[in-house]
Amino acid sequence: MKHFPIFVALAGRRVVLSGGGGAALAKLRLLLKTEAHVTVFAPDPAPEIEAWHAQGRLTLQRRRMEPGDATCAVLFYAADEDPVEDARTAALARADGALANIVDNLTDSQFITPAMVDRDPVTVAIGTEGAAPVLARAIKGDIEARLPATLGRLARIGQAFRKVAEALPMGRARRAFWSEFYFNEGPRALARSEEEARETLDDLLSRHLDAAARPGHVAFVGAGPGDPELLTLKARRALDTADVVIHDRLISPAILELARREAVLIDAGKEGFGPSMQQADINALIVEHARAGAQVVRLKSGDATVFGRLDEELEAVSEAGIGWHIVPGITSASAAVAGIGQSLTKRGRNADLRLLTGHDMEGFADHDWRGLARPGAVAAIYMGKKAARFIQGRLMMHGADPSTPVTVVENASRPDERVLAATLASLPADLGAAQLSGPAIVLFGLAPRQARSAIDNLQTEERA
Ligand code: SAH
Repeated sequence: MKHFPIFVALAGRRVVLSGGGGAALAKLRLLLKTEAHVTVFAPDPAPEIEAWHAQGRLTLQRRRMEPGDATCAVLFYAADEDPVEDARTAALARADGALANIVDNLTDSQFITPAMVDRDPVTVAIGTEGAAPVLARAIKGDIEARLPATLGRLARIGQAFRKVAEALPMGRARRAFWSEFYFNEGPRALARSEEEARETLDDLLSRHLDAAARPGHVAFVGAGPGDPELLTLKARRALDTADVVIHDRLISPAILELARREAVLIDAGKEGFGPSMQQADINALIVEHARAGAQVVRLKSGDATVFGRLDEELEAVSEAGIGWHIVPGITSASAAVAGIGQSLTKRGRNADLRLLTGHDMEGFADHDWRGLARPGAVAAIYMGKKAARFIQGRLMMHGADPSTPVTVVENASRPDERVLAATLASLPADLGAAQLSGPAIVLFGLAPRQARSAIDNLQTEERA
């Protein structure tokens, strides 16, 4: 860092500028925002400078600068737009003890003026040491857009309230309060009047005091199969009020967007067989945030109680003495079967339904293959892609009909949903050919109704 950013106290202090043209005007517009006593030396000043002088906003000397003219000045700007004159005036100012800046001359300047975002009293200064003015401008643009235009006024209103807000515990609770005031409630209220902005502070504080008194809590929420419209109203409400959302890898961005703006989002994604956050780490993470007083939403794909390792998390939370509840969700089997126009159970076909996992902690999971091999059996197999050949082998060994329909639904309920209609005999080969990369569920014993009616239509057409 060749330049160290500081904010110089200028109220009541002297700033001298030499020059009367465009460069001088640009600097003066900035300097006049301060409470400094500004003196300008210019034999031929621009009319604006004359006007500011007439209004008493600065002192104008219609002559060149001489030794002693910068006495007691803190800062000096050489804005003569003439290298020889700039060097002369800067040398004079330095001799008088002022820090000198030569406009557009980085090397000979003792300080530089940063790009600024002005929401007085909030000021953001951006510097690149002259290396990337374009970048500085881009960053300035970003920050300008991010900070509400009313932020300065809000900050002054907030300043008067700071003592009262100390009723909130330090740290997260206080930060959440101010963040909601400056970026959410405050700008909205101020759009009506300053009076309303002040009243908002009282309302907001009592709401946040209530929240701070509330102990941490964990909601285990089923997010459904991916379509945000398949969230329950309870799930939406939980997301609306969450401080922290700890979610699985399978949760779609469209759903995460529904979380409260101030909520902290944590991806606890767990890959099928691969390395990722350990279950114990996830348990610890949930407990840590709830202990700190957060309203935690543990967001799990589908229904949290189906192959979600929910019990381990419930136990960890209960052991820590933290309150919790479960919000059920639509499991992917329901979404997948809806996608193919079938029922999971049907009179005369299957009076029971099995939810299976393709693999468990030990590897491919074993099941009641004999029962499954019976005609009419239906099973929804989660995490079954990799286990397809194993499942096929076991079922055939137990006498299942190789022509039993098996349908794989990838990304059920999402815009990129894909349906793969196969039979038990063709399943591994069909899966291999399809190269599914998203989450997929295997519906054993079910064929897509649409596909079948398409074939029917085809046959009808052929007959005609
Ligand atoms: N609790 C989840 C299941 C978690 S196990 C539920 O109730 O759905 C993860 C498995 O769920 C995936 O391997 C896949 O088999 C299935 N799955 C999750 N989302 C899915 C989706 N949108 N489409 C198809 N299968 C999905």
